[in-house]
Amino acid sequence: MAVSVESIAANLASIRERIARAAARAGRRAEEITLVGISKTFPADAIRAAYQAGLRHFGENRVQEWESKHPELADLDAIWHLVGHLQSNKANRAARLFHSIDSLDNIELARKLDRAVAEMGIVETQQATPLDERKPLRVLIEVRLAPEETKSGVEERDLPKLAEAVLALPHLEWRGLMCIPPLSENAEDARPHFRRLRQLREGLAARIGRPLPELSMGMSHDFEIAIEEGATQIRIGTALFGARPQH
Ligand SMILES: *Cc1c(COP(=O)(O)O)cnc(C)c1O
Repeated sequence: MAVSVESIAANLASIRERIARAAARAGRRAEEITLVGISKTFPADAIRAAYQAGLRHFGENRVQEWESKHPELADLDAIWHLVGHLQSNKANRAARLFHSIDSLDNIELARKLDRAVAEMGIVETQQATPLDERKPLRVLIEVRLAPEETKSGVEERDLPKLAEAVLALPHLEWRGLMCIPPLSENAEDARPHFRRLRQLREGLAARIGRPLPELSMGMSHDFEIAIEEGATQIRIGTALFGARPQH
């Protein structure tokens, strides 16, 4: 697929403007909102073009795809997010390949990720890296707000238990919540889901007695609404890189 560096840079500039306007409407600062470019199905060149245009956060939805692209991009100082469903048997690979797992949705996966990071830490300790410089793996818990319409994420009723388990794992740094609302023609339909995610975040933060800074919500068609509802990370694929090939 041909990648136009100019079009990616222009798209990025226009998204940044839209972020600024949405933030202003909501009385927020644009700097509070991190743009995560979702590069699934796009080649390494497209990611590099976005990086050169100033983007620093990228998200992929499959471990295997990122495994094949990342060797070409090892020189970039970016933050790599996994935003797609992760099977527990790929936890080891994911812990090595990503800075943040934004789609954590079950206890078994959390434990496997924690163990994977611990084992990486042991390797580093053998190389004389001081213990306190070992970084925990950042995670967001993905919540399935409309269980009848969407597939991934933990259901609300199971969220407190998962949260408690994640908090007890020393190698994971739980930073907030993520959601993917049901697909809809009308972006406004996502608003109640975004609002609900924020309420859940606030409830949990109060319970654990510390802030949960991140709310990852909003995609190409509804990110402005997500920003109005408090998103701190928006995940943008199509509006940045163009239409994905149909499967
Ligand atoms: C593909 C994807 C996105 C980006 O979707 P666009 O509509 O192309 O912006 C965001 N989040 C997740 C989890 C995705 O899989």
